[in-house]
Amino acid sequence: MEEKYEESKLYRLRHSAAHVMAQAVLEKFPEGKVAIGPPIEDGFYYDFDLPRPLTPEDLNEIEARMREIIKSNSPFIRQEVSAEEAQELFKEQPYKLELIEGLEQGDVDEHGNPVDEKPVISIYKSDQFVDLCRGPHLQTTGEINPKAIKLMSVAGAYWRGDEKNPMLQRVYGTAWLTPDDLKQYLWRLEEAKKRDHRKLGRDLDLYSISDNVGSGLVLWHPDGAKVRFLAERYWEDQHIKNGYDFVYTPHIGKADLWEKSGHLGFYAENMYAPIEIEEQKYYLKPMNCPFHIEIYKSGIRSYRDLPLRYAEKGTVYRYERSGVLHGLMRVRGFTQDDAHHFCAPSQMPAEIDFVLDFSLKILRAFGFDQINAYLSTRPEKAVGDPERWRDAEAALKASLERAELPYKLDEGGGAFYGPKIDLKINDAIGREWQLSTIQFDFNEPDRFDMTFIDEDGQAYRPYMIHRALLGSIERFFGILIEHYGGAFPVWLSPVQAVIIPIADRHVDFARKVAAELSEADLRVDVDERSDRMNAKIRDAEKRKIPYMLVVGDREMEQGQVDIRRRSGERLGALKVDEFKALALKDVEEKVAG
Ligand SMILES: [Zn+2]
Ligand SMILES: [Zn+2]
Repeated sequence: MEEKYEESKLYRLRHSAAHVMAQAVLEKFPEGKVAIGPPIEDGFYYDFDLPRPLTPEDLNEIEARMREIIKSNSPFIRQEVSAEEAQELFKEQPYKLELIEGLEQGDVDEHGNPVDEKPVISIYKSDQFVDLCRGPHLQTTGEINPKAIKLMSVAGAYWRGDEKNPMLQRVYGTAWLTPDDLKQYLWRLEEAKKRDHRKLGRDLDLYSISDNVGSGLVLWHPDGAKVRFLAERYWEDQHIKNGYDFVYTPHIGKADLWEKSGHLGFYAENMYAPIEIEEQKYYLKPMNCPFHIEIYKSGIRSYRDLPLRYAEKGTVYRYERSGVLHGLMRVRGFTQDDAHHFCAPSQMPAEIDFVLDFSLKILRAFGFDQINAYLSTRPEKAVGDPERWRDAEAALKASLERAELPYKLDEGGGAFYGPKIDLKINDAIGREWQLSTIQFDFNEPDRFDMTFIDEDGQAYRPYMIHRALLGSIERFFGILIEHYGGAFPVWLSPVQAVIIPIADRHVDFARKVAAELSEADLRVDVDERSDRMNAKIRDAEKRKIPYMLVVGDREMEQGQVDIRRRSGERLGALKVDEFKALALKDVEEKVAG
């Protein structure tokens, strides 16, 4: 089991750095008021009420002062105090007084988060600074590496997140165990900014989200749609080859259906308001499952029909608050590459082997070779036969081991209706993204009374497995954009080669080459503009087109093209046929190019 962040040295380090920063800020602004300062992912922040806005120069000064405080190597000393003592200690600090009041009433901790039990009030002292704090901290300020901290930015934040409260200044900092870790982190930030799919989506004209259409609803532009089409075509081919049946189902379904499936019970807050037709309520589908179940139930299923694998790229609608919407990553309408597997108990372990192998193969084809698996098992509150839970968990575990996939176990972390495997990938800059889920369901088959007739002529309950492979195709596209920084592998590139005639007299030859390459199913553009060659090359590089084929007098005479890759690498002149073979091989092998 991996160490929890809250229990790690990094967490204590960042919490400690927040105190050191607060001291440095208060020394600079003795009349300043401090609010809260917790560690967060990759760093920490502290909220201040100061007489004037902080400038970048202030941050430099504060950072320099932090290094001195670190050098003083002062111990962090914990002390428990009574509410009265705390009130006396922080009598100049109205935000702390409010927190103390909360602690006293036992409803919030010192970060303002609700708590169940009335906490003891503790303070931490280090050097010249005392904070209301539960800890934990490092032993001394000297344990912070002064070369591994950095103040990042200042942003406005309302006290307790409530816009009726005063606006405070939130100073963000980051702290790491080593200067090298800090350097890595800053590089990742820089890279993430460059790769941001919202920026690249605009620059490469891949997609947009229009206010006129609505938040969280994606418009796929031609080049984005081309990538999607190519990805889906591969996905479809693989499904057909591997025994899946495609199904298509509507976007809306009657209230009764969602009642029966339980979605109106446990999922209603994520669903859109109903549409009324002929005094019937219809809901936009948040999931495809009940429709697939209805297809299963449209006839009598025998053990000979199983396993059944229904796949659909089903567009679903889920209500997400506007505050959490984020480019393609978090949207309100998206297409799930969904599948449902129905099988007899005796087939179940092999079916899990199959679906895991299949998922890994597809993820790897898209260039994700660092895949992490997570196995979630039975929670305390669960529905379904415990024996089936045990068999399902055993099958999931056995499959992971057979696939030699290291996995993390989340004991008791499964959904109430079944255990699951999640597959997450690491992208090019080391960020983890969840893509696939292989999820047992012991709830829906009961609710819909699904059966199959076994060899003995009796009806039995089949196993049902939900499988999303790429997850949401919108989100997957966002991840793909960021992973490749917009430079899609050759097989997915909207345009694979651009032919660049040097002068007008080369245009006819360029068109001939284009026709020949298109004939071989390569996607080719001719840049016929009268711009200079270098400008055209720069433009093609910006569009992240894998190959640039320059043609001039010599190429025309020899029936050749002069090849550059988008990386700037020059491959020199090749016969058109030779280039064709090279490009087709890159497509076939799905190289990043
Ligand atoms: Zn603290
Ligand atoms: Zn499902």
